[in-house]
Amino acid sequence: MNYFKFNRTKIVATIGPACEDKQVLLEMVRQGLDVARLNFSHSTHEVHEKYVQLIREINEEFKTKITILQDLQGPKMRIANLKNPVHIQTGDIITIRSDIQEQTEDFIPIVYDTFAKDVNEGDIVLIDDGKVELTVISTDKLYTVELRVDSGDVIKSRKGVNLPFTDISEPTITDQDYRDIDFAIKHNLEWIALSFVRTATDIQVLKELIRLKNGHQRVIAKIEKPEALLNIDAIIEASDGIMVARGDMGVEIPMEDVPIWQKRIVQKCNEAAKPVIVATQVMESMIENRRPTRAEVNDVANAVLDGADAVMLSAETSVGKYPVDVIQTMSNIIHKTELEMQHIYYKNMHINPYDKNRLGAATIVSACNLAKEVGAKAIIGMTFSGYTGFQLARCRPHSHIFIFTNNKEMLTTLGLVWGVRAFFYDHDTSTDNTIKEIHDFLKAKGLVEKGDIVINTASMPVEDKGTTNMIKVSRIK
Ligand code: PEP
Repeated sequence: MNYFKFNRTKIVATIGPACEDKQVLLEMVRQGLDVARLNFSHSTHEVHEKYVQLIREINEEFKTKITILQDLQGPKMRIANLKNPVHIQTGDIITIRSDIQEQTEDFIPIVYDTFAKDVNEGDIVLIDDGKVELTVISTDKLYTVELRVDSGDVIKSRKGVNLPFTDISEPTITDQDYRDIDFAIKHNLEWIALSFVRTATDIQVLKELIRLKNGHQRVIAKIEKPEALLNIDAIIEASDGIMVARGDMGVEIPMEDVPIWQKRIVQKCNEAAKPVIVATQVMESMIENRRPTRAEVNDVANAVLDGADAVMLSAETSVGKYPVDVIQTMSNIIHKTELEMQHIYYKNMHINPYDKNRLGAATIVSACNLAKEVGAKAIIGMTFSGYTGFQLARCRPHSHIFIFTNNKEMLTTLGLVWGVRAFFYDHDTSTDNTIKEIHDFLKAKGLVEKGDIVINTASMPVEDKGTTNMIKVSRIK
């Protein structure tokens, strides 16, 4: 079987023990997995290396273009390893310490050196996605914080801690992140997602670091802090992509604000031609069940309607019971939504006012307008930098987007971008001959048929390797 499903909205799935078997992962790819997320909050480099090899092996063997996204942990606060869960009740007074990592009867240890320094009397502390709510009574500003329990529950090992209204002093890129970034560069991963981004500077620092280490990775800002929402325009401009990280966001800001921010951020990213991922609890119930809840089905469809480039699975595929079924179900929901809801197509059919390449941007918007007018089956772009792929996706054409490139890294990088399918092409020949060869290739693959109208964009003369400046409309012979 060599049939692989393809939707315009891409599927990102977190790799973990539930899908580390090659046959399972391959079946996920067949069902529509586009991007493999390696979550560096968990596992060792050795384990991640195994996942990278597996994905590359599948890409090689089955000519797929699965993209790899590294997700950095960032300054995530966590409860330390606990021998036993701690049951706390509303009204209790508890102590949290950062200097000792061993659990005792008297206090709960936290893995976050500057916890006592950062918090102030009256600050809210949330544990385990807000299941436990606490208020700071006092802090010695060194290691020890006394807190009142406003809403009790069980505190378990390694659970996340959020300080929604506190400025944290830890830098956005931690020592662990620096080691993990080296891994991404060494293994040529395509995308790096930075957690708990607060300002555009966080992104600029990471990009500069990658540049200095001769990496080519593109950077995604995970939006989960209130400060990031305040700086959202500058962060989108500085980043190559965005993740709406609804898990932590829903703890850091009132959860009823999350859907509104999802829609705002997706719209801004669409306008700016930056791929945007909607993440977390998308198919949460499928960690345990073969069928999702109706609300989850709606959530996927709504993310497609909002204009997300990709929807993301976390524990559903990394540790869930049904990693293949969840991709298949998601893929079916995306397919149906994209088939029926025609208003998702042909958006942003104007030049991006911030785009410095006005000639290229105008050519691409015109190609999409032409595709709409003539009912083109496909728009075919040539690119080295990926620019044409990102900009064509911005217009959300109904026509397929086929990108041809001699940049091997770009083949997999574009896996995250809405609608784009990329192919390698490096013949040094005339534009007319290139177009003919590409049409023959697509026809041989069954992606276009005799009589289909297609639009080609390119840069002429070819040898100048300049910006896209040519549109050609033709029928497949
Ligand atoms: C999130 O908070 O939604 C998220 C994706 O982050 P994490 O990496 O902690 O799952």
